[in-house]
Amino acid sequence: DTGLEKTKDNFFSKITKVIAGRSTVDDDVLDDLEEVLVTSDVGVSTTLKIIERIQARVARDKYVNTADLNTLLKDEIQQLLAENNSNDFQNFEYGNHKPYVIMVVGVNGVGKTTTIGKLAHKLKQAGNQVVLGAADTFRAAAVDQLKLWGQRVDVKVVAQAMGSDPASVAFDTLRSAVSNGDDVAIIDTAGRLHNKVGLMNELTKIKNVMQKVVPGAPHEILLVLDASTGQNAIEQCKQFTEATAVNALALTKLDGTAKGGVVIGISDQFKIPVKYIGVGEGVDHLQLFDRKAFVDTLFK
Ligand code: GDP
Repeated sequence: DTGLEKTKDNFFSKITKVIAGRSTVDDDVLDDLEEVLVTSDVGVSTTLKIIERIQARVARDKYVNTADLNTLLKDEIQQLLAENNSNDFQNFEYGNHKPYVIMVVGVNGVGKTTTIGKLAHKLKQAGNQVVLGAADTFRAAAVDQLKLWGQRVDVKVVAQAMGSDPASVAFDTLRSAVSNGDDVAIIDTAGRLHNKVGLMNELTKIKNVMQKVVPGAPHEILLVLDASTGQNAIEQCKQFTEATAVNALALTKLDGTAKGGVVIGISDQFKIPVKYIGVGEGVDHLQLFDRKAFVDTLFK
């Protein structure tokens, strides 16, 4: 169970329909393939890029059997993902900075808290000492939920009263991390997108305060996106990357959606590596994104 069954079934059955009863890859087949990719949430510009590349291969090879279309498509998607995910992440060992600081951003409901909890668990399993900072102080529920995850995976959570200054929570968390010799600090932030300037100022303030404790922090600005929202996830990615220097993505809820094609589109459009994928609500349902395994699963 890879958690990607719905995407795989959707993708595969549509491609099978495109091929059925046709022998060669011609313009009609490519038109239909284009529709499959767009309706699988790959996104229009990325779809056109893939179609153009396949067209070029068909022109070069003169004749391409529809039976080979799968292989051709798989190659092109693999290639596209490789261009933007050159550094596939192999393990949860972040030994290059201590503490390694991750600032987590994203709108409410996308699975931010859950991702932080699951990530803390994986990092702990890999031998890291982890601390969480509850800097989403605007919702009491956010702080409580993070504390619950902290208990669940047995990781310390630094929190203040609801409504307190998020930058102050981040500061406290990093001070605690330094004095306890923690390996990784993960800071939750509030995901209010309605005011981009406000968001930008708040995240900048949190970053500046972090750097007073740990120069170079945050090492990772992780944007969490809900893959099941398809094109909305792309829009959120646009907004957050304009507000702050996002350098890693987590795509959640891939288990419950057929819209997994969004992984391909986001990776291509934003040139930011997809680092983690969420494939369920349980503590073990977080994976390091492996582009080869991802594409293999879609075409298996
Ligand atoms: P936040 O508001 O962004 O912090 O979102 P939460 O972490 O509270 O998650 C919102 C809901 O999505 C919860 O019910 C989670 O259990 C659920 N969720 C989060 N990640 C995943 C995932 O990868 N798969 C599934 N199926 N559900 C998820």
